[in-house]
Amino acid sequence: MKPSIYGLTRAQLSEWVSKQGEKPFRAEQIWDWLYRKRVQSFDAMTNLPQHFTDLLAEQFCINPLQQRIVQESADGTVKYLFELPDGMLIETVMMRQHYGLSVCVTTQVGCNIGCTFCASGLIKKQRDLTSGEIAAQVMLVQKYFDEKGQNERVSHVVVMGIGEPFDNYDNVLNFLRIINDDRGLAIGARHITVSTSGLAHKIRDFANEGVQVNLAVSLHAPNNELRSSIMRINRSFPLEKLFEAIAYYIDTTNRRVTFEYIMLNRVNDWPENAQELADLTKKIRKLSYVNLIPYNAVSEHDQYSRSPKERVDAFYDVLKKNGVNCVVRQEHGADIDAACGQLRSNTMKRDQAQLTRKA
Ligand code: SAH
Ligand code: SF4
Repeated sequence: MKPSIYGLTRAQLSEWVSKQGEKPFRAEQIWDWLYRKRVQSFDAMTNLPQHFTDLLAEQFCINPLQQRIVQESADGTVKYLFELPDGMLIETVMMRQHYGLSVCVTTQVGCNIGCTFCASGLIKKQRDLTSGEIAAQVMLVQKYFDEKGQNERVSHVVVMGIGEPFDNYDNVLNFLRIINDDRGLAIGARHITVSTSGLAHKIRDFANEGVQVNLAVSLHAPNNELRSSIMRINRSFPLEKLFEAIAYYIDTTNRRVTFEYIMLNRVNDWPENAQELADLTKKIRKLSYVNLIPYNAVSEHDQYSRSPKERVDAFYDVLKKNGVNCVVRQEHGADIDAACGQLRSNTMKRDQAQLTRKA
C-alpha cells in the first residue's frame, strides 16, 4: 500500500522533491494543491509536469481513507466512520462550537491503556495510525464542508479520539506540524489540543518539542488508589510522577495545562474528591484548568453512570471555593453514538462481517 502524501511535513516533502532532482518550488506547489486547493488527485495538479505527477502517483496516494458512515446530530455534530486501507475502522467527530468547527481525531486502532470506563479501550491496540491517516481525517472533514459550499473552515483540532496519542508519539508530532503549517491548513497551535492519559516521560518530551499546542491530561481521580482502580496507567505513572512531569512541562513551555475529569456517579464525584483535586493542583493553580466532563454511558461498562446535576454542582462549588479555574464541559452529539469509540464499537456489533475484514 502506498503511503499517503498527507503524512509528510512540508520539510519532508521538500526533501523528497529534491531527492527526485526537482526544483524546490515544486514542493511548495504540491503543498498548495494539497492543503489550499485541496485536490483529490495528482493529475489535478496542473502546473506540474506530467512525468512528475506520474512519479508522485507511483509513490504516494492522497487520501488513504474511505468514508463508510456519516451521522449528523441535531446540534450540528457530525460523526464519521472511516475505513483504513487494511479494512480497519476508525472514527472522527466534528463538533460545531461557538468559536468554529472543531475536529476530534483518532490516533490508533483500539487502545492499550485500557481505562475501565472507556469504549476505545475495549479493543486492544491493533496498530498505530500513520501521520497521513491522522491528517486525512481532518482533510476529509474539511472536504465534507467544502462540498457544502458554505466556505466553512476547520479551525480547531483536538487529539481526543480513539487511542493514546503519546503511545504513537512520532506520528502524532508529524501530524501536528502538518496541520499547523502556515502555508497549509494553518490551524493555529493554540487551536490544537492533545489529550493524554498521563505518560509522564512523553509529557517531558512534548515539553521539549517547541510546539505551542495545548496539553490536556486525563486525570479523572485525585488520589492514587482511586486513579489506579479506574486507569491502569496510574500504576506505571502515579500522580507524583505525573505531576513532576506536568511541572516540568509548565516550566519549560510557560503554557497552561487542562485537566479532564469525567464525572462518574458515586465513584469520583464526592465532595471530598473535589477537595483532594483542589489540593493536588494547588501549586499550579494559576497555570491549570479543570474540565468536568459528563460521562457517556458505555454498555460494556455498566458499573459506571453519569453523575446527576446536584452532584456535579456540589463538586464544582468545592473547586470554585478553592479558587480552581473550572468549567463543566458541554456535551455534543448526544443523539448519535456520542461517546469516544462508540460509533466504531456499535457499528462493529451491528455489522461485523461486512465492515471489518481484520478487527
Ligand atoms: N487517550 C487519550 C485521548 C483520547 S480519550 C486520553 O485518555 O486522554 C479523550 C478523553 O475522553 C479522555 O479524557 C477520556 O478519559 C475521555 N473519555 C473516555 N471515555 C469516555 C466516556 N465514555 N465518556 C466521556 N469521556 C470519555
Ligand atoms: Fe485509551 Fe484514552 Fe480510552 Fe484510556 S481514555 S482507554 S487512554 S482512549
